[in-house]
Amino acid sequence: MRFDTVIIGGGLAGLTAGITLQEAGRKTVIVSAGQNALHFFSGTFESTEAERERITEFFVRAGIPVHFQDGQRLMPAGTFRPAALSLEDVTLFPQTPVSSKALIVNFSGFHDFFTAFLAEGLEKNGTTCRICTLDLPEMEHLRLSPSEMRSVNIARVMDSCWEKAVADIRVMHKDEDLILLPQVFGLKDASIPGKILAALPARAAFIGTMPPSVPGIRTQMQLKRRYEILGGTFLMGDEVTSAAIHDGVVSSITTRNLDTSRIFGEYFILASGGYFSKGLAATPVQVVEPLFRLDVAFEEDRNGWYRQDFFADQPYMDFGVKTDADLHAVKDGQPLKNLFAVGSILGGTRPDFGSAAGLALRTAFAAADAITTSKPQE
Ligand SMILES: Cc1cc2nc3c(=O)[nH]c(=O)nc-3n(C[C@H](O)[C@H](O)[C@H](O)COP(=O)(O)OP(=O)(O)OC[C@H]3O[C@@H](n4cnc5c(N)ncnc54)[C@H](O)[C@@H]3O)c2cc1C
Repeated sequence: MRFDTVIIGGGLAGLTAGITLQEAGRKTVIVSAGQNALHFFSGTFESTEAERERITEFFVRAGIPVHFQDGQRLMPAGTFRPAALSLEDVTLFPQTPVSSKALIVNFSGFHDFFTAFLAEGLEKNGTTCRICTLDLPEMEHLRLSPSEMRSVNIARVMDSCWEKAVADIRVMHKDEDLILLPQVFGLKDASIPGKILAALPARAAFIGTMPPSVPGIRTQMQLKRRYEILGGTFLMGDEVTSAAIHDGVVSSITTRNLDTSRIFGEYFILASGGYFSKGLAATPVQVVEPLFRLDVAFEEDRNGWYRQDFFADQPYMDFGVKTDADLHAVKDGQPLKNLFAVGSILGGTRPDFGSAAGLALRTAFAAADAITTSKPQE
């Protein structure tokens, strides 16, 4: 198999690079091993101040409505975070306290939405809270086993009976000026959260639950669909196992499922994520990039890898693969001519591209732009 560009990793960075290249008429393949950080996504794309217009248009073309307003977002523990570019179903509040009385609604038997923490946090900010549970018969089969009562399973049921939930909440509602619900709506249909907000008798907001994240999985599915509609090849559940490199140029890769056949490419993009996705791995003495054995920037003294304060920014999160100015990955001190490294595998090595989702999006754009404007490899 031969492609213009081979992308390793199908998280936010890999999909963004793939879509951008397909939009430019390139033939690409994405090989993606498994879960990615979008499965834990809060619904808010951090660090997207730069290139906000390009990022917003990118999502809108993929059928993912996003918005940004000055304000703050209500977090699962009842605390607040400054606003950032968010999915449309993330409600941003202009000030604290956000309401005088709030109704917090959960599903009976759903333990991944912490209503008591949420109420405690809000009450510290002067909001009186009342907690109610919904007991829909459509969820009975999930309640038979506690492991089934998870966000994505609830969202599957809610895709077809969200109107019943709204009808029950309307009955529960008294005089509260805010209704808070777990973020378990609109797994397949992104318009459902907006319809719920419009149908409820007071201002409402969806609050994050324990993973998997319903808005994150929906975003991943929509990006993948966009990529495939544009003609991209997505090899789901496969893993790149080795790469051939000669004279500073990557020529091909092998994958677990393709056995002995190779995938050839003119360009390669490494978007295999950080420690969480195994794009980086830590041994007792070093941090390595396991596939290409790229150079990694990390602190030699292991005591400098972390801080005792659990909540402090941890230095190991800044470790990442080394790149030149144009995001070519560096191996043995030399940039590889046709391999770009993008997304969270960079850690904090490229603060010029921001952090979090902003880093994934902007480095993916930059690599795709470099490929579409560069001359063919010699
Ligand atoms: C738990 C968690 C939650 C986060 N939440 C947010 C948030 O809410 N907002 C925000 O702005 N940022 C968030 N971030 C930051 C996050 O890193 C970025 O937002 C972004 O999603 C990272 O995308 P990525 O594509 O670089 O990496 P990833 O999403 O990690 O994707 C990498 C993919 O590469 C695959 N892969 C790895 N090795 C191979 C291989 N050899 N072959 C094939 N595939 C391979 C992995 O299986 C994975 O699917 C979060 C990070 C984590 C870890």
